[in-house]
Amino acid sequence: MYRIRLFAIRHSRAFEWIYQRVEQVMVALDPVFGKIGYDRIERPVAFTERCIKTVLFDCKMCGQCVLSSTGMSCPMNCPKQLRNGPCGGVRPGGYCEVKPEMKCVWALAWDGASRMKNGAQIETVLPPVERNLEGSSSWLRVSREKAARLREAKEKGRAAVAEAFADARAKEPASAPLAEEPARACGGNK
Ligand code: SF4
Repeated sequence: MYRIRLFAIRHSRAFEWIYQRVEQVMVALDPVFGKIGYDRIERPVAFTERCIKTVLFDCKMCGQCVLSSTGMSCPMNCPKQLRNGPCGGVRPGGYCEVKPEMKCVWALAWDGASRMKNGAQIETVLPPVERNLEGSSSWLRVSREKAARLREAKEKGRAAVAEAFADARAKEPASAPLAEEPARACGGNK
């Protein structure tokens, strides 16, 4: 497992790309997940996520995955479970002060991040772990939140267009009807 973890960090750029694709697919599946019910799919998705990420990253299923901000090095493998690092105790050669046989998780994180396209994210200070999310699926939560944000942005965009039509109708009554007007602008169904 440790070797595979080091492999993932060495190939962090490729894993970053794969993660982005997985997220796109999960976000696209949001309407399907919504119909089935997020609560119903939580267990099978969390199980799949655990199986894949345990092998690749020694994942501990903290429920708030930050791999894309930590060079694909899981911070939960740090014996101090630091969410930002490294601490001041890194040994010569980049080894952990608590487990001298293991490379410092955070030294590896900075190394992995340096290869990633969005590696600068590692400079953002991460909040402490919320223990109540332990065991839950990060994939599902993140994609669900992203899908909700996209829906909200789309809705705002529609509202802005509707408002623009109302403005145009008030200011320039002759020009507004030339374009197709959204239903909501003239009080129709949303
Ligand atoms: S940050 Fe959390 S979810 Fe991500 S690999 Fe580590 S333990 Fe697993």
